[in-house]
Amino acid sequence: MSELLDGKAVAAAIRAEVAQGVEELVASGGRPPGLTVVLVGDDPASQVYVGSKVRACTEVGMVSRKIARPAATTQEELAAIVDELNQDETIDGMLLQLPLPRHIEERPLLERILPAKDVDGFHPVNAGRLWLDLPGFVPATPAGILELLKRRGTPLAGRRAVVVGRSNTVGKPMAALLLRENCTVTLCHSKTADLAAVAREGDILVAAVGRPGLVSAEHVKDGAVVIDVGINRVSDRATVERLFPGDARKLAQLEQKGAVLVGDVDFVRVAPKASAITPVPGGVGPLTVAMLLVNTLKAARRRQGLDA
Ligand code: NDP
Repeated sequence: MSELLDGKAVAAAIRAEVAQGVEELVASGGRPPGLTVVLVGDDPASQVYVGSKVRACTEVGMVSRKIARPAATTQEELAAIVDELNQDETIDGMLLQLPLPRHIEERPLLERILPAKDVDGFHPVNAGRLWLDLPGFVPATPAGILELLKRRGTPLAGRRAVVVGRSNTVGKPMAALLLRENCTVTLCHSKTADLAAVAREGDILVAAVGRPGLVSAEHVKDGAVVIDVGINRVSDRATVERLFPGDARKLAQLEQKGAVLVGDVDFVRVAPKASAITPVPGGVGPLTVAMLLVNTLKAARRRQGLDA
């Protein structure tokens, strides 16, 4: 059986380090880091994510604020909020919780955020700096995955890494980070021909697709390290039975909650082949929030002239 990569434990260690960093910053006369999260509309998943980000900030001694606006908020109103936060000296980091309602264009708003306050790392300046190996803000989910790999001593240099999914928020920055660690990287997407054969080349395989259980045993090389980014709510009984055969607990969960959280990896079939694998939940998810805290502390230190 493969090693279960405990994202929760690594995230707890990172959060403790950030708490210490905040304490040191304040002890040396600095201002505690401030993060503002902007939530538009009433998407239940977004509300949960924003709640956990705000709570995590408070727990490490940061000042955090949520700005909640109704789904009918206009592009101009959101632009004005971003401008105000850009100008507010006490705000070190801000983020717009995605997805925004359909009538809002995300890109112009993401580009309006000052790169120095862009703790999500979605601004083109930060995305470009990542590919140029320059310091900047790296999106939290791939940054967290790299921390997880490094802290367990996963050999990276010279290894084949396959990333399935090329989103700007996960897949592409993940590929850039693995390349920076001297992996030989392949980035796959919905048009990749013979995905299973390509994915099987990966010593490290990262799945960030948004399709429950897409990556199965035939996609995985024996002994690969498998990272499952996916968070999918599955409410269809047949899919739950296919992905978790004979698992009474998952079926009970489906009955009670109306859905089961499933990753992009078919865990039951992949785990026996992998040397290590992240669970869902409890793998990548907790690392994302922890790395957002790391980015916010970094922003605060930089804005107070403490880091180059
Ligand atoms: P996107 O929908 O933005 O991107 C999905 C990517 O998967 C696209 O590049 C798409 O290809 C590719 N893809 C879709 N279908 C296939 C297929 N059949 N074969 C190969 N590639 C395919 O998703 P995100 O990157 O935002 O998120 C991915 C998953 O990760 C989701 O489940 C999301 O909920 C989860 N997530 C989890 C986080 C965490 O903290 N754990 C944080 C962020 C996301 P193409 O470009 O060709 O369309």
